[in-house]
Amino acid sequence: MVEEICRFCGRVAIKTSRGYSLCRYHLLAYDNLHSAYEAWKERLGELTWGNFLRKASELPDTGAWVKDIALAELQKEQ
Ligand SMILES: [Zn+2]
Repeated sequence: MVEEICRFCGRVAIKTSRGYSLCRYHLLAYDNLHSAYEAWKERLGELTWGNFLRKASELPDTGAWVKDIALAELQKEQ
């Protein structure tokens, strides 16, 4: 069996989600990004995934792990 590696950092991947192989850190970041999206939608009303990703990737307090995911998702949106 080939060992999967995280597509973002090269660490051993523990899960493949939506076509990404993710290490434990990036998996956590991925989950965080999605819960942040739900929270923002509740607060702001209409918010597309693409717009959310753009905003999230520009925020200075978005963590580096989360930014990796946001930027990759953003590329898929374009
Ligand atoms: Zn990783």
